[in-house]
Amino acid sequence: MNELKLIEEFKRRSGRCGKGVKVGIGDDSAVLDYDKDNYLLWAADMLVEGTHFNLKSASLEEIGRKAVAVNISDIAAMGGSPKYITVSIGVPKRLNPSSIHKIYDGIFKLCKEHKVKLIGGDTNLSSKLVIDVSILGTVNKKHLFTRSGAKEKDLILITGPVRDGKKEHLSFAPRLKEAQSLTRSCKVNSMIDTSDGIALDLGRIASSSGVGCTLYADAIPLSKDLSLKDALYFGESFELLFTMSVKEARRLFLKEKNGHKFFIIGEVTKKTKGLRLIGKEGKLSVLKKEGFRHL
Ligand code: ADP
Ligand code: MG
Repeated sequence: MNELKLIEEFKRRSGRCGKGVKVGIGDDSAVLDYDKDNYLLWAADMLVEGTHFNLKSASLEEIGRKAVAVNISDIAAMGGSPKYITVSIGVPKRLNPSSIHKIYDGIFKLCKEHKVKLIGGDTNLSSKLVIDVSILGTVNKKHLFTRSGAKEKDLILITGPVRDGKKEHLSFAPRLKEAQSLTRSCKVNSMIDTSDGIALDLGRIASSSGVGCTLYADAIPLSKDLSLKDALYFGESFELLFTMSVKEARRLFLKEKNGHKFFIIGEVTKKTKGLRLIGKEGKLSVLKKEGFRHL
């Protein structure tokens, strides 16, 4: 099974979304009409035992926290503010009630940090632990970031050194503050959160926007001990990857001198150039549109 192909097929079968839906399947969150100044954002992300975590190496509190963090990350990637979540859990018989409360300790911890309210959900028996979160948020119409707005000659930026997904996938902080500071300071043309590796996630910006992308290998900031290969293809880093014009990037760097750290890691090109990596001594190679596989 190929996750990307399946989603394409779901999108084709769902047909036209009609009035009221600004963005349907294909971005970090759906975007719906809401009020005069704001859109409503609606996203869902599910964690499955054995696919996203392992009960031998992760605590229940960490797993609950992560289930909310991945959802907040999708709202951040749209430039929005998270507001409400529902949580549906599939619980194996082997877990006792106090274990389930520990999962919710993690859930409420992150909710409190980001002023998000739990407003519903569902509880069922299951052979594996499953935590399925759905999130609602809002975004000012002027500051909506999507995957589809990248323009040729934009620069490609990232919010921080690529985190080591193997070590940090349970503890990462969603880049909400960084996204919100971008909405205030400059014009972003496209954005995505890097859940599946830079190559695949950049590939999603490229195909949604109808452009090509070239990354500069030496410019990609890496957290300690992370290999370039894992930064490109492993994922679970949850930095924000975004594009903006050179002029806007200049403004950003003048404004943010002492604030958040953003890094230029590549440029947007014509579609025909595809996805490329410039390595040592200018050697060009093709970036594979591959990454963290859930299926
Ligand atoms: P993300 O990694 O940001 O959560 P995904 O790659 O999981 O995004 O999903 C990409 C798009 O496909 C999103 O718009 C998402 O809502 C949609 N999508 C994923 N799975 C399904 C599904 N089973 N049915 C309908 N839409 C889906
Ligand atoms: Mg996402």
